[in-house]
Amino acid sequence: MHNTQPLYYYNSLQTSFSAVVTALRPCDDHWQLTLDNTAFYPEGGGQPADHGTLNGISVIDVQTQQGEIWHTVTSPIPVGTVVQGEVEWNRRLDLMQQHTGEHILSGLLHRMFSTENVGFHIGQEFVTMDINAPLTWQQLMQAEWAANNVVWQNVAVDCKIVPPQQLQTLQYRSKKAIEGDVRIVTIPNADCCACCGTHLPFTGMVGQIKILDAQRYKGGIRLTVVCGGRALTDYNIKRDQLAKIGAAVSMPHNRAADGVETLQQQLDQLKAQLATTRNLWFDALCATVSPDESPFVVADGLDGEAMRTLCLRLCQHTPRPCAVLCPKDGGGFAYAVGQTDGNLTELVRDMNTALHGKGGGKPFLCMGSLQAEIEQIKEFWNERKDDTTQ
Ligand SMILES: [Zn+2]
Repeated sequence: MHNTQPLYYYNSLQTSFSAVVTALRPCDDHWQLTLDNTAFYPEGGGQPADHGTLNGISVIDVQTQQGEIWHTVTSPIPVGTVVQGEVEWNRRLDLMQQHTGEHILSGLLHRMFSTENVGFHIGQEFVTMDINAPLTWQQLMQAEWAANNVVWQNVAVDCKIVPPQQLQTLQYRSKKAIEGDVRIVTIPNADCCACCGTHLPFTGMVGQIKILDAQRYKGGIRLTVVCGGRALTDYNIKRDQLAKIGAAVSMPHNRAADGVETLQQQLDQLKAQLATTRNLWFDALCATVSPDESPFVVADGLDGEAMRTLCLRLCQHTPRPCAVLCPKDGGGFAYAVGQTDGNLTELVRDMNTALHGKGGGKPFLCMGSLQAEIEQIKEFWNERKDDTTQ
């Protein structure tokens, strides 16, 4: 055992330190080493590992294995070398903002609604927190406001090792039963929790705690949360999105939703007008069909549903096969062919083969697309339209 002194337990703001390399081993494409002391936090408790450098060599991961802290480095550093360590502060600050924010929110949810945090993960963009009971959005917003109040109070975060005999008198949150001395993190008015992670010394440094989403999960809820710089980034993304929506609907961005609602109403009206106009158009097309004809209609701007409707309506005016063709973006034609009481299966199969098409359906109605010129399609249709069996 190399017994690394974990500097991050005692001062989470320390990013520079000197240490001696106590072991070195190859690991895949990289190297791993241990130090006599380290300010690099190893991944654990839902918090990712610190990154940084040792004598300018990149530290890309830090893990605890069999009680030892192994730093993954991109080049080997011989045992006995005195190294200058630098922890990447922006990453550490971000991780501490998420971690400390999680303590405050989990602690307050526990105090206010007697829930337990049963899962915690700091992802690339968001933090997820699993709460063991379903809570309403209103309850979550109450806890979020209380949590931000604790941030604004800028209270000191206390981390200390507590011996077993003192623990018995202490009310604290813990995900699992722990034996021996326990590191207790206390945030006045918010939380008291067993934890070995890195925490900000004052709650004000968390900046902001924002719940973005809550989904039902394993009988409770999974919260998506952002704190500190991530909350500001999220605000900026949403502000930009709202500004774009606001500009599109000619409204200030804090009333963009009103503008979208008006637009939706206008869209519904236009859809109703289009349906009425289309009906009149289909009526006019159907009026030209005589019972001994096999109609071949080429129409622009129809979606699949409209093609299907028109084809079935044409079929009501003649017992013979009916075809509706609509040009597709990028070439070719969509088709709907139908015949009341007909069997179009063979005709459609042959048409697909002859005209590079695909599609099918029921014996009385088939839909698909063809990669051919309209003259070729019409020629095929005129030759074969009477081959259908009734
Ligand atoms: Zn913690």
